[in-house]
Amino acid sequence: MTEAAVHLIDHPLVQHKLTLMRQKDLSTSSFRRLLYEISMLMAYEVTRDMPMQLIDIETPLEHMRSPVIEGRKTVFVVIMRAGSGFLEGMLEVVPGARVGHVGLYRDPKTLVAVEYYFKMPGDMPERDAIVLDPMLATGNSAVAAVERLKETHPRSIRFVSLLAAPEGLRNFHQSHPDVPVYTAAIDRALNEHGYIVPGLGDAGDRIYGTK
Ligand code: URA
Repeated sequence: MTEAAVHLIDHPLVQHKLTLMRQKDLSTSSFRRLLYEISMLMAYEVTRDMPMQLIDIETPLEHMRSPVIEGRKTVFVVIMRAGSGFLEGMLEVVPGARVGHVGLYRDPKTLVAVEYYFKMPGDMPERDAIVLDPMLATGNSAVAAVERLKETHPRSIRFVSLLAAPEGLRNFHQSHPDVPVYTAAIDRALNEHGYIVPGLGDAGDRIYGTK
């Protein structure tokens, strides 16, 4: 993947929280809380270049022209189920956003993504899509989700993950070189079960306490 297409979010607060989240003895509630906090911080980075426009306002003292976000519409696209853990913090920062869902499961033998749910708002061509999945591992789910999303013709697409594997980034970029990826870390590799190492384990299980 080209350097330009990967945005590594190396803010100290993000890196600190990620280190806490990686630790295996962290409780489910602390993991969830940290994911909420980290997703808010990542939302700042993902929305950093949102276009602005100047509007006329009155302060208590005088008139001024002041910047606001141009009337663009955002849709967060959650890849279920772990992507849901990323959503609340993002909505805290962009409360007016709509939310779409993509349901995919990984076939445990082939690691290929199989779709079981897809629901987006009706006005996708007017929206900038921000796809959420904490783990970009093989990249197969991400590739399939974005492929499906492109059928709805959103104005733009970005992909946000907490952790990425080099293999997943390569796979994703081969299929979607036009979609930038925002991530807090690129880990060493995937293991033989398709888990990111050193990683943080199964994100869904850690968010929902299902292990
Ligand atoms: N999904 C996860 O939750 N964790 C991984 O390491 C890989 C995929």
